[in-house]
Amino acid sequence: MSSESFNAFEMAQKQFDQAADLLELDQPTRDLLRNPMRELQFSIPIRMDDGTKKVFRGFRSMHNDARGPAKGGIRFHPQETIDTVRALSMWMTWKTAVADIPLGGGKGGVICDPHDLSSYEQQQLCRGWVRQVSKVVGPQTDIPAPDVMTNPQHMLWMLDEFEVISGKKQPGFITGKPVGMGGSLGRTEATGYGTMITVREAMNELNIPIDKTTASIQGFGNVSQYAIELYQQMGGKVTCVSSWDQDDQASYAIRKQEGINLKEMLSITNTFGGIDKAKAAELGYEILPGDMWIEQDVDLLVPAALENQITIDNVGRISKQVKIIAEGANGPTTPDADNVIKDRGIYMIPDFLANAGGVICSYFEQVQSNMNYFWDKSEVLGKLDQKMTSAFYSVHEYSQKNKLYMRDAAYMIAVDRVAQACQDRGWV
Ligand code: NAD
Repeated sequence: MSSESFNAFEMAQKQFDQAADLLELDQPTRDLLRNPMRELQFSIPIRMDDGTKKVFRGFRSMHNDARGPAKGGIRFHPQETIDTVRALSMWMTWKTAVADIPLGGGKGGVICDPHDLSSYEQQQLCRGWVRQVSKVVGPQTDIPAPDVMTNPQHMLWMLDEFEVISGKKQPGFITGKPVGMGGSLGRTEATGYGTMITVREAMNELNIPIDKTTASIQGFGNVSQYAIELYQQMGGKVTCVSSWDQDDQASYAIRKQEGINLKEMLSITNTFGGIDKAKAAELGYEILPGDMWIEQDVDLLVPAALENQITIDNVGRISKQVKIIAEGANGPTTPDADNVIKDRGIYMIPDFLANAGGVICSYFEQVQSNMNYFWDKSEVLGKLDQKMTSAFYSVHEYSQKNKLYMRDAAYMIAVDRVAQACQDRGWV
């Protein structure tokens, strides 16, 4: 689906330019916010299990830290590029701003496919990445976290390396750590739950009874699985999910009109969110081409896999029944496809609002790590609900008041907050 010419950073800049125009931002502020303030590109040589040496490319981009230390995940992905990392770091700046937490935006990555790496090779990659960035990251400067194909174990190896280098315990260096090792309860659920908290409020505002709705979701990883869990608890029915099949190097959509059984689906899914399609077929699911997730007759679409998934080529396939799109993934909709969605009047919950639950909970993890006092899960999830609901209404109300598309409203709130912080600090 991802076209080779797609450039996430150009898309992020285009979205920013639109917000800057709406806000009539001055030129120095635009120049500052259009690019990351700092970025690193480096090599990570590691020794493979068979004794050979291999060199991987790694990145860290710090887009802006005017509102607080930069914050953002690290991706392990074979198609990772510096431009994707730049875009994701910029989106993190807007995400922390719209969620109104005292953090900025960063992102990191390594070009690799962890499917092909042993556990020990992955550990070396994590430690090598930290050695390269240790001078510019840290609890008061730039705080990493998990993202696509990285997990709590990776975070713990990274923390350990950072603590070895700095010679002291620094639990606030990284978030998404395992529970019991400085991690927060609720972090695993946070992004997917957060997405569905915004959907719950949107349906409430649009007078749609959630327990009468159906959804199709792209991806079946961390975000998707917990989004489905909360949506089903609220009475919604997911009829279609999709995932990447590593053997076939293709994606498939898995459908059951009566609704997928989450527990059953999880039992045939690997740790990368790949569903075993043969087992799914045995359990009575239809196996369809991956791009069919978008054309299902459902009320809600949740892209929760990767960027560049709703494009001008497939936006026309979105069913007339769809009322809401909630972007669990970062950057899933290209600007030209977004214009079509806007014209059709579909209610859009944009990525940096819909998936802000992860960074909100990461912020809670930092607070708990710093206090060395950990809350129980219900307290974490209660606070998450409050923060997500409040972020949702700040954008929804601004959009209603100013007759703006939800993405434009979210951008205007976020960019304005960051621009103000840069100006207040006397940077521009
Ligand atoms: P993940 O690695 O746990 O899951 C990704 C899922 O997408 C897997 O099921 C995979 O099979 C599927 N997938 C990959 N390529 C696909 C394709 N072409 N078609 C269909 N499915 C495909 O990742 P995640 O943590 O769930 O993240 C998903 C998205 O959400 C990413 O854009 C990520 O940046 C964003 N996000 C994640 C978090 C978080 O806390 N995990 C927070 C904010 C945003």
